Amino acid sequence: MNEERKMLHYDALVVGGGIAGGEAALNLANTGYKVLLVEKDRSLGGKMILLSKVFPTLDCSACITTPKVSEIARHKNITIFTESEVTAIVKKSENDFTAQVTKKPRYVRVEDCTACQLCEKACPVSVRDEYQSGLIGRKAAFIPFSIANPKAAAIDIENCTLCGACEKVCPTHCIDFTMETEYYELHVRTVVLATGFNLFDPLQIPRYGYGQHKNVITSMQMEREIAPTRPYNTILRPGDGKVPDRIAYVLCTGSRDATVGNPICSQICCMYSIKQAQLLMGALPMADVTIYYINIRSFGKGFEEFYQQAKGMGVNFVKGKIGKITEKENGNLILRYEDINEGVVKEAEHDMVVLSVGVKSNPTVGKMFGRGELKLDPFHFVAQDDLLGSPSKTSIDGVFVAGTASAPMDIPDSILSAGSASSEAISYLIQHQEP
Ligand code: SF4
Ligand code: SF4
Repeated sequence: MNEERKMLHYDALVVGGGIAGGEAALNLANTGYKVLLVEKDRSLGGKMILLSKVFPTLDCSACITTPKVSEIARHKNITIFTESEVTAIVKKSENDFTAQVTKKPRYVRVEDCTACQLCEKACPVSVRDEYQSGLIGRKAAFIPFSIANPKAAAIDIENCTLCGACEKVCPTHCIDFTMETEYYELHVRTVVLATGFNLFDPLQIPRYGYGQHKNVITSMQMEREIAPTRPYNTILRPGDGKVPDRIAYVLCTGSRDATVGNPICSQICCMYSIKQAQLLMGALPMADVTIYYINIRSFGKGFEEFYQQAKGMGVNFVKGKIGKITEKENGNLILRYEDINEGVVKEAEHDMVVLSVGVKSNPTVGKMFGRGELKLDPFHFVAQDDLLGSPSKTSIDGVFVAGTASAPMDIPDSILSAGSASSEAISYLIQHQEP
């Protein structure tokens, strides 16, 4: 590609604007270092900003994330590139990394947009809203979600018909279809990788019927249904809009399952399912919630008590392995499962099934470096050279890993890991200071 690259210089590059990347960027910036934070999405906050409440405290996720995200956005030492990608990182010397960064056009000048939503109302194109996990639609001119940061419209150019309706109504004339992709060459002295994780795609297990049976949803879809910024005002099953009476959770969907290439425990699925079950019992007091599990792994601080609390609230726990999910004509679902305690095969009917999908690595991180330079573990997470002694150090001196880029983990552990990565990065910067 023969694009012109603009040159930038910072002390640190943080790749990923989720909770781990944000925390690492803040720690570096508060120590006086200049940070470039690169996020691939249209908003900071990663997956956490889209969650309902967090376990085991049931604190509001957005109430924790949004002040932190605003602090990052307002920090004088942090420059943020959203909708941007780091395509290559090369270590030139101990104190010098070069990174290629591509910034996609938003087609809206963020600084002039007032988030009035007039463009959304005028836009005739409707597509699946990825921020609401496809449960509702959105326009091609849209504000990603109500607590997005930056809170500004964006144009989804792949679905836009260039009809111009949004431009005509925009009171600040900030929609600009002439914006182009920008290319940067970045020089930094250290790098923190906080590229996060991907959720397991349940289409890989066809016998669970995701994508075929309308009332089989993923845990992220349920997360949106119970979040304060949710798409509906109550819990609905997507097939017919009925409020469900009997909801089933299928734990370990795509975790601890070598047949789908993910034999590892995803660490968070038991607990987020127990959290959702408790929230559902609050939202739908008459509903039955059943959790089908292989083992409940409630290993963290307060987790076992949280699990016992769910039992006390009446959540039904069945030690059972699901063989197949079939759909009845009325949209209800029949779960065929092995009752592990009794050693017999049983069937149960539910109105709605939630697949507690597991955690997979984010493959983009390995592609940023030259072949084999950044060591990955067998599951394609970033490997730590000294897992017990310095868990945020990678195989490249000066490159540190934060949060779920290195392994599945929950929110407190991600924040701890980001603290460790930023401390290591600060120590590296001090040790490699130019005289
Ligand atoms: S130009 Fe594109 S984004 Fe704007 S209203 Fe038309 S379809 Fe929607
Ligand atoms: S782009 Fe214009 S019309 Fe759309 S939200 Fe921003 S200011 Fe309002």
